[in-house]
Amino acid sequence: MQLEFSPEEIAFQQEVRSFIAENYPENLRSVQDEGHDLSKEDFLSWHRILAKKGWIAPAWPVEYGGTGWTATQRFIWSEELAAADCVGTMPFGLSMVGPVIYTFGTPEQKARFLPGILSGDDWWCQGYSEPGSGSDLASLRTKAVRDGDDYIVNGQKTWTTMAQHADWGFFLVRTDPDAKQQEGISFLLIDMKSPGVTVRPIITLGGEHEVNEVWLEEVRVPVDQRIYEENKGWTCAKFLLAHERTGIAAVARSKRGVEKIKQIARTEMDGDKPLLANAFFKRKISELEIDLTALEFTELRSLAGEAAGKGPGPESSLLKIKGSEIQQRITELALEAVGHYGAPYFRGFGEGDNEHPIGPDYAHRAAPTYFNTRKTTIYGGSNEIQRNIIAKMVLGI
Ligand SMILES: Cc1cc2nc3c(=O)[nH]c(=O)nc-3n(C[C@H](O)[C@H](O)[C@H](O)COP(=O)(O)OP(=O)(O)OC[C@H]3O[C@@H](n4cnc5c(N)ncnc54)[C@H](O)[C@@H]3O)c2cc1C
Repeated sequence: MQLEFSPEEIAFQQEVRSFIAENYPENLRSVQDEGHDLSKEDFLSWHRILAKKGWIAPAWPVEYGGTGWTATQRFIWSEELAAADCVGTMPFGLSMVGPVIYTFGTPEQKARFLPGILSGDDWWCQGYSEPGSGSDLASLRTKAVRDGDDYIVNGQKTWTTMAQHADWGFFLVRTDPDAKQQEGISFLLIDMKSPGVTVRPIITLGGEHEVNEVWLEEVRVPVDQRIYEENKGWTCAKFLLAHERTGIAAVARSKRGVEKIKQIARTEMDGDKPLLANAFFKRKISELEIDLTALEFTELRSLAGEAAGKGPGPESSLLKIKGSEIQQRITELALEAVGHYGAPYFRGFGEGDNEHPIGPDYAHRAAPTYFNTRKTTIYGGSNEIQRNIIAKMVLGI
């Protein structure tokens, strides 16, 4: 594994760094610095800048709007975005349904849906999970019955992230109740403004509106919005989950997270010394950094495999487990570092709040981020399920 960047890669890194410095929206930076929740428009402002530059979908094939970057360039890109504290782009269109559409869709479906994903004009959500069907996804019960050129869809989805903003959703529905579980499922694209679609908020521990219930009552969906064959949606579902897990390790963002804790611990005092001089605190930071470095090398090995033409394998489960645990430890340590300044924000500091912030800026998001990050070991396939995958696929148990 070659760890040094080539001169061309260093030049690319400089190009990326300057582009971010010159183009990242100032108003977005201040919303982030003050610890406010981000609005749909905040997310889209950066998305549109990247779309205009042609850098919005680095992992896509060039023919569909990708950049043609190597795995190393994509690694540099994510490192630079994290180092500059840029907001992430929404994964539901770009990393999930987009690759499904260009891999399994018809030419008409590609022409109809891919441009809106790239431009940001269409905001997508993921309708997989149902009450009672999360880890055991293939037991899902939302059903679609054929009626001429349409399906009539009835059922309930849950934990649907950002569905309150969504123009479109990709849904797994049961089209053959008599087939074996995985064989009777289809993959439908549903216009979220269709009559019969209702989105109800679920407010999370940190006081945020990030997830929702989605109710589907007699929703009419044209058959030409089904991707791939009827009853073969599980093939698309599995393909998408492999894409969802790559990148979930979030190494670059975690490295930035550790740096931020160190900055806080240099400022916050423990008696007459900075917190960073406290041996117990320093030890926790060091343990975190050691584990993060080990994770980074595992990710680099996985990238080297990808560069050599190997697709994401069971190691993506390993990256997910370690990455998500590290993300949680970072938020725990950040909350510890800000101490009592974290307390006023146990229920967040939302859009439109006019309370005067208390304590330093870096304290505002510590508690909501701590609560919010409990999700990382659950979503994208819970960590227990990832351990099952490793037991089966790697250890052969
Ligand atoms: C913040 C957040 C956002 C989400 N966003 C979306 C979204 O946008 N779209 C979407 O479709 N879904 C979304 N999800 C749902 C997510 O995919 C599920 O929560 C996840 O798959 C777990 O399913 P569950 O919640 O039904 O828990 P369950 O499957 O009921 O699991 C409960 C517990 O039992 C354990 N468990 C279950 N089965 C096994 C087993 N076989 N072996 C060992 N342990 C097991 C689990 O690990 C877990 O600890 C989101 C979830 C969260 C928390």
